[in-house]
Amino acid sequence: MKPNLTSYKTKSWLKMTISVMILSIVTTTSALAFKLSTRVFSISTITFTTSGGSLSSVDFDDAINTAAANWNSTGTILFVRDSSSPNLISFESIPSGELAITQGVPLSSPYRIGFIMKFNSDFVYYNGPNPVPPGAFDLRTVVRHEFGHALGLSHVSSGLMKPVIAPQEVLGIDSDAIDGASYLYQNGSVSPSPGGLFGIAGTGGYDDLSTSIGYKSPNWITASWPTRAASGTVTYSNGTGTRAYFSFNGTRVTRRYTMANNRGNYLIYIDGSLREAGSGFVPGIPRWQIAKTYTTSPGDHILEVRRIDGYIDMDQFIVNVVFPPAGSYDDTATSQIQYIGVGGSWIASSGFPLAYNGTVRYSNTAEDGVGTSWYGNKVTYVFTRASNRGIATVTIDGVSQESIDLYSGTTIWQSSVAYTLPVGYHTIFIGISGDKNGASSGKYVDIDRFITQ
Ligand SMILES: [Zn+2]
Repeated sequence: MKPNLTSYKTKSWLKMTISVMILSIVTTTSALAFKLSTRVFSISTITFTTSGGSLSSVDFDDAINTAAANWNSTGTILFVRDSSSPNLISFESIPSGELAITQGVPLSSPYRIGFIMKFNSDFVYYNGPNPVPPGAFDLRTVVRHEFGHALGLSHVSSGLMKPVIAPQEVLGIDSDAIDGASYLYQNGSVSPSPGGLFGIAGTGGYDDLSTSIGYKSPNWITASWPTRAASGTVTYSNGTGTRAYFSFNGTRVTRRYTMANNRGNYLIYIDGSLREAGSGFVPGIPRWQIAKTYTTSPGDHILEVRRIDGYIDMDQFIVNVVFPPAGSYDDTATSQIQYIGVGGSWIASSGFPLAYNGTVRYSNTAEDGVGTSWYGNKVTYVFTRASNRGIATVTIDGVSQESIDLYSGTTIWQSSVAYTLPVGYHTIFIGISGDKNGASSGKYVDIDRFITQ
């Protein structure tokens, strides 16, 4: 934690001036959502000793104990004072000008987290109830912040875990910091219980039951009946204040979820910054495994899905998903084209000289779908118009497009509809609506090929 020094001098004035210049670029937006550091711990008992200090040792101890009691009262973790703990808290001069520093150190059995925490004795501190005298830093606030680091929290732009504090400023343990500690230490307000350590997800796919996903109560329910969902499950909630968190390391994360007529609005935050205000609502039947991809800078990140209204659900997250290169993909290209169906509901058919590659694949089963993902700015859906065709829904990156009526009294091979988008990572899904034009003899929707560019 750094000091914000607007009207305060110490014996290290030159260093402090540098600190002020650095601090002037720190923003004070209201964006929340805790951010995890790379340190995660597995249990809720933390032990510490103290040593040294130019502040009255009584006041120093009292500030430590008060901040520990503050954290303990959140119910997320339990700090225990233990004179044999290898964890050290000290009060000493820190030449870099930081107010305090917390370093992680290797675990030492039976202690479950390891840290060295230093408070800079070059500053004037205060320990006691409000108000804090002018020119002094509230030591209890600084300890609460550093304990947040010891627990595994990183800096966010506001609240207890913001990087900079001003003299006289008092910060409590806010709900965002409690959410972070709950996520790491599983106090019961986050489910499903991971039974221990949360990792930061690396490259790969993570189903909704993965312990890399944190669910903040209330009312999360896992459904195992949706056969068209990824791995056959989705976890959903319509609870007030419901959120889900997914921490990952990479440059790209894809969220798969369900759009349906009971889904509502949600917000997507990445590292506390709002990335999307979206809606999962579509009239009619569900659309499964709808996908949206978000890009990030390299490194550790946390994605948060925050419910506004209706239901939200989690089906799968995929980190650094590999996208097929832009190109022409025939309906037979099953490693680039994803079919969502049950059993043999999609039927591959060949021997059509006027179809691309002589093949098409079709289904008339409502809720089936077919899609592809790519990097670029355009996609063309190529299909057949015919007398037994029904109505297809189109969804791109979670946004419903105008439906396509594939009915035609005469067969028109290699019909197409193209969509132009901003350059980026995209996913298109064509869904079988189960509806049809009154003139049609069937509800079939087919795919001949996708062209991505
Ligand atoms: Zn800090």
